[in-house]
Amino acid sequence: MQTAEPLPEYEVYAVRYATRGARRSEHFMGGDPHDADMPMDYFTWIVKGANRAFIVDTGFTAAMAERRGRTYLRCPVESLAALGLRADAIEDVILTHLHYDHVGNFDRFPAARFHLQERELNFATGRYMKYAFFAHGFEVDEVVGIVRLNYAGRVELHSGMVELAPGLTLCPAPGHTAGLQAVRVHTRRGWVVLASDSMHFFENMTTDRPFTVGYHLGEMVDAFRIVEKLAASPDHIIPGHDPLVMQLYRAPSPELEGVCVRLDADPVRPAPMSKHFRR
Ligand SMILES: [Zn+2]
Repeated sequence: MQTAEPLPEYEVYAVRYATRGARRSEHFMGGDPHDADMPMDYFTWIVKGANRAFIVDTGFTAAMAERRGRTYLRCPVESLAALGLRADAIEDVILTHLHYDHVGNFDRFPAARFHLQERELNFATGRYMKYAFFAHGFEVDEVVGIVRLNYAGRVELHSGMVELAPGLTLCPAPGHTAGLQAVRVHTRRGWVVLASDSMHFFENMTTDRPFTVGYHLGEMVDAFRIVEKLAASPDHIIPGHDPLVMQLYRAPSPELEGVCVRLDADPVRPAPMSKHFRR
């Protein structure tokens, strides 16, 4: 009798590459009664298997940081070296969605296939881009760049949930954009979900108040429930832009303090949504 192969356990890292100062009212649909500071961090993620690594989102460039008034901390592509990886050797890049802070630097991965939901490319090239509200988060040259890569046979356009490799699943969680996908990764502590911008902050989910940039409000709230179901526990959910991630998880080595944290190890204290988990 054949026994099932155990699922591989991946290492998962978040690299913090930029930040910006902001106010609470900027992050919740309908505003917020407490007008206090609430900064926003920018991340890329790395999923490292025994003999294969996946990059989840590619961040933006120093030039884009300048143009959009963000504080650039480091190039996320150059940060790969600290984890023993080289961009030109990466074969798979997962794009959670096509916003400028998730897809810039795509041209630094010359050997990669790009994994995207087909609905996201349709959205980014479709009817709503004539409205600044929807177009603002995209850079047309980057969207065109992905279209060109598709013509070159380097984009895998997925429709729905797909197992990219054993223990690594792409899971649609739309609402922020039409084709946003979360990434579910099997690790030594169970299933971790890189929620990306299905929630910018833990607090979007714990209070059911979506972020201020979105395509479909109802789907944004549904996406919180999708992510909850995918994760092993509330402590396994990683939001897209919350500075708390850097406090909840440990750096893989002292030199990487403040640069990168390890998400496949338990957080130093429970994530703030533990009390609100509905499953
Ligand atoms: Zn976004």
